[in-house]
Amino acid sequence: MDEQLEMNPTEDKRTDARIQLLLYAGLATTALTLLAMYFLNNKGGINVMGWYAWFVVPIGALLVGSAAGSGYAIAAKSLGVKLNKILLISIFCLQVGAYGVAQYIEYSSQNPTSQNGQSVGFWTYFDYQTRSFTFSYRGKQGNPLGLLGYGIRVLEITGFALGTIFLASIVAGSPYCDGCKKYMERRRIGLFPAGLALSKKEQKLLEKPEGEELRQSLEEAGKGGIEGLNKLIKHIEEGDYEAFAAGLETGRSDVKATEKLSMRLSIMLVQCDECLDGYLKMDAIRGQGEHIVNEPIVELPLPVSFRERIREDFPKV
Ligand SMILES: [Zn+2]
Repeated sequence: MDEQLEMNPTEDKRTDARIQLLLYAGLATTALTLLAMYFLNNKGGINVMGWYAWFVVPIGALLVGSAAGSGYAIAAKSLGVKLNKILLISIFCLQVGAYGVAQYIEYSSQNPTSQNGQSVGFWTYFDYQTRSFTFSYRGKQGNPLGLLGYGIRVLEITGFALGTIFLASIVAGSPYCDGCKKYMERRRIGLFPAGLALSKKEQKLLEKPEGEELRQSLEEAGKGGIEGLNKLIKHIEEGDYEAFAAGLETGRSDVKATEKLSMRLSIMLVQCDECLDGYLKMDAIRGQGEHIVNEPIVELPLPVSFRERIREDFPKV
């Protein structure tokens, strides 16, 4: 372990510098967002942090958190910092800290005093604010929540920090090239039909006994699609670029129409734009709109002979 670290000290330093930059970027967007919220609340009377759904889902805090955390996500992507678990947990803690700092700044700026004119300490102020939370529902203001206010605080802080992690996790889940320390490029290069364009009436018919004929044609279409895909997979495994490229063309002609089918097979090129290493990812996609389901089929390493040509020959479809 130690040997490995010593072998590449400059590389480690570069990674450290990038992580530092990432944290600065995230803290900068966090400070800007919290500042904007402060003005909205104090000058405009709009408390975004206080938006809740069903009284318990802190939508406002989640929104503010995602805006605040956008800097971490954007910096990770552009600097190529791999967001591992430790970094994600650190960012979560930083955001909880940032929330606390924002509360303290708000307290200092208001310089609250008690009835007899003495200045009030931060924790007394914080406790008072927390117990004074009220819910307003359809324009009616409720009573102060008292101790329950702390529940709201916890929801608010967690929502805020989770909003940040949500964006960062999307970046963390993207394919990454360990060798070049970069996020890989993802591009759909083909979409093959493996279903039928069904009307609402036909969709209902599918569930009835008299829909047997339609069910069979659907099955046929699915089989046809899978057969075509299997041919492509064979060409990839054999490293036959010419045959692969010719086969792929058929999945690039009428993508808009294919997208409307009950099932289609997509081919994604996932590739590092520096070392050109990567893989081809194939998925079956079913359904439309909100009901789209993505079923992974296979991931195949990109043959060396494919690497340069595939990038140039096949833009995104
Ligand atoms: Zn690479």
